[in-house]
Amino acid sequence: MPFVSAIVVAAGSGQRMQQVLPKQFLPLGAKPILAHTITNLLKCPLLSELILVLPATFVDHPIVKDCLLDILIPVKLVAGGAERQDSVYQALQHLDPTAEVVLIHDGVRPFVTSNQIAQLLDRCQEYAGAILAIPIYETVKEVENGIILGTKERHNLYLAQTPQVFRREIIVNAYIRAIADRFVGTDDAMLVERLGHKIAIVLGDRRNLKITCQSDLELAKFLLNNESNAI
Ligand code: C5P
Repeated sequence: MPFVSAIVVAAGSGQRMQQVLPKQFLPLGAKPILAHTITNLLKCPLLSELILVLPATFVDHPIVKDCLLDILIPVKLVAGGAERQDSVYQALQHLDPTAEVVLIHDGVRPFVTSNQIAQLLDRCQEYAGAILAIPIYETVKEVENGIILGTKERHNLYLAQTPQVFRREIIVNAYIRAIADRFVGTDDAMLVERLGHKIAIVLGDRRNLKITCQSDLELAKFLLNNESNAI
């Protein structure tokens, strides 16, 4: 089994929520969102280490301890950067020397499943990487100044989610190249795509939502309650 390094990026300041506490630390049920993310991620026995990227002011914060209970693999805490891409780059500096595969996941996606991770790791044996993605069912408009410029053909459009999984040397090289070229992407796969590598899609789930605004948090609470009812 390859050594899989799991990076969780949780260094955002959460400005869109207009809260003092960054959104990854807001409560979802009995514990912070980030605690759910880490617990669900580490239910997968295929991960070998956790690199958790935090705002510099939170590295020693007690709330982080609440997010790291009962963890059986080595954990490294790393201070993040100004943008998500900078935070991932910081984490890549701390990979275990023997890591062969790198999984990158948003700290604000608490509903990741072991089955999804296993499928991603499986696809990554054949391709440079694999990401979760879901088909778009809505019609996508391109708009400028409130006026429609055009409509995207949607049959082959997908929304990218995390986790995203890559072979170590490919993602490290993609980040080095992005920095050299001053290229900023909106997900990790973009940095790898631009070097011409093939990345596979694993069908994601709408429940794997990214908690970005207040309505996402309300939906997450609903999903969590439904989950506990199902048990
Ligand atoms: O900013 P965005 O909503 O895309 O954030 C996605 C994830 O990236 C969040 O978990 C957030 O904490 C993290 N992030 C980060 N460092 C930043 C900005 C965002 O780790 N500078």
